[in-house]
Amino acid sequence: MAKTASRVVDVRAEAEKHATGLRGTTGTLAGLGVTLRNMVRPQHVTIQYPEQRKPYSRRFRGVHVLTLREDGSLKCTACYLCETVCPAQCISIDAKEVEDPRIEKAPSRYEIDLSRCIFCGFCVEACPEEALIMSREYDLAVTAREPESLTYGIEDFTGRSEIAAYGAGFRPHPEYPLVESYVPGERKGEI
Ligand code: SF4
Ligand code: SF4
Repeated sequence: MAKTASRVVDVRAEAEKHATGLRGTTGTLAGLGVTLRNMVRPQHVTIQYPEQRKPYSRRFRGVHVLTLREDGSLKCTACYLCETVCPAQCISIDAKEVEDPRIEKAPSRYEIDLSRCIFCGFCVEACPEEALIMSREYDLAVTAREPESLTYGIEDFTGRSEIAAYGAGFRPHPEYPLVESYVPGERKGEI
């Protein structure tokens, strides 16, 4: 087999050539130009929160939403996949039996300790039913350090008007239409 000629690159010499000489100067001047341009250009990078709010995208991982069926019952079948996959171990579920043999189970308790949640979205990705999605709600300031103040249950994840007002956030299959009953409550904008 014929040998192919190899080229040896002296990395240090290449670096020195670029760091000195005209190319190095041009790069420095170009960087200074970017700095100067942004110094004089009027642009606001801060907002007057909470009077002003930033719009976030549908990929935003905010407070969770437990979605509902058309009849208002929880879509969650208490399969524990979300609880199992959660790296922060902040989801607790108790299951109860339901009469419908197609469903078998539903949660009697579904809680997430949002003070430990890292909003990774793994729970939402693990859910086989799209029973759990995330919203674009991010107001989670509390004045007490008790964990109960940020432990949200079924009512908090389904019935708060904030969820609908902020709209739905991250869900693994955005290509499917978002059913209105998923996020009940009064809406200010798009779901
Ligand atoms: S977003 Fe992540 S940390 Fe938070 S409950 Fe879901 S899996 Fe756990
Ligand atoms: S993965 Fe979905 S269906 Fe299963 S317990 Fe969690 S929210 Fe309910």
